[in-house]
Amino acid sequence: MAGSEKEENPFSTIMYRVNVGGRQFGISKSVMGSVDGSRLQRLVLEGSHNPNQTDFFYERPSGPFEAILAYHQTGKLHIPGDICPEAFKQELDFWDISPHMLEKCCYHRYLTFSRDQTVMTGFIEKSRLSNLYTGKRLEKTPSFWSRTRSRLRSVLDNKDESLVTQRKNDVRKRA
Ligand SMILES: [Zn+2]
Repeated sequence: MAGSEKEENPFSTIMYRVNVGGRQFGISKSVMGSVDGSRLQRLVLEGSHNPNQTDFFYERPSGPFEAILAYHQTGKLHIPGDICPEAFKQELDFWDISPHMLEKCCYHRYLTFSRDQTVMTGFIEKSRLSNLYTGKRLEKTPSFWSRTRSRLRSVLDNKDESLVTQRKNDVRKRA
């Protein structure tokens, strides 16, 4: 009878082995399926076509994945203290989890970071435009091109010399 019980309740036995960036995580089927729309849940749903496939490998950083797995286990999503919010956001995108699911403490950190980035991008764009209008922009001015050409020429000349020396040395070695 024990055998039929197993068949009736696959949640009790099925463990997935998910290798992330070289680290192996053993995850139960119920945890895998606990977050709607996440990549882990999709593995379970798609896996129903091939129940024998329980091993998966992802070339992604394992640090952020710990927090993503913890979210599946506990329902709480936090940004690890040692990970840049932008890098964490990339991993959230990969594992198909919305940053809106972040707990209040970390959502605030995420919003502050996003706002700072927007301000910084705006500042860079603004100073780029103001340089453009005041004529401080270096690109494509005749002096810029002549400086670049002469720099390039000297680099190429040196490179040619070093190649010639290299060939002479090679010839000497063979002789
Ligand atoms: Zn937090």
